[in-house]
Amino acid sequence: MEKGIDKTYTEVCKTYFPRWNPWKYTYNPDWTGGWCNTEQKHIYLGRQPAGIKGALSPEAFIIHQVCHAVGNTGHGKCWQNRMLKAANRAKRDNPKLSGEITAHVQRYRLSPEWSCREEIQLLYQRIKNSFAGRYPASRSYDIEAVLEYHLHEMGIRKEWDKPLFERVMQRGREIAETQSRLR
Ligand SMILES: [Zn+2]
Repeated sequence: MEKGIDKTYTEVCKTYFPRWNPWKYTYNPDWTGGWCNTEQKHIYLGRQPAGIKGALSPEAFIIHQVCHAVGNTGHGKCWQNRMLKAANRAKRDNPKLSGEITAHVQRYRLSPEWSCREEIQLLYQRIKNSFAGRYPASRSYDIEAVLEYHLHEMGIRKEWDKPLFERVMQRGREIAETQSRLR
């Protein structure tokens, strides 16, 4: 993806979002996943997580993110419809990409945990599990580091969306506290 990403980004925007004025983007292979910051009007692209979402082609990955920019930040109807519109546009000249996008949207429809809200619920569940029974038994346990690890895994990064990051961190601290009281 490092190679030719500028070209891919420009082509994807021109072909699938012809009326959209492309936002700036930053690519960094040290990051995991992609993020679209609607406040900054900036798209952040990292390596794709190999795990839950499955790797996409660079084109489909960029289209996924741009659909957040032109649609909204979740993976609900608005985003899905914009994705399917791109799939439809790709049908004739790039049927493989078209099929890939359709399948990708389908997976969000079939697995509720893939919607944005559910994804965050899943994250809270993981945080809860990781603190259950451990705290405050080991006082040296670095709560902040554990939380940051989980957020990182979910692709929630401070430099991409500070308000969301802070909000989820705060909720994570509360979960850790609750676990300590339950002990
Ligand atoms: Zn997304």
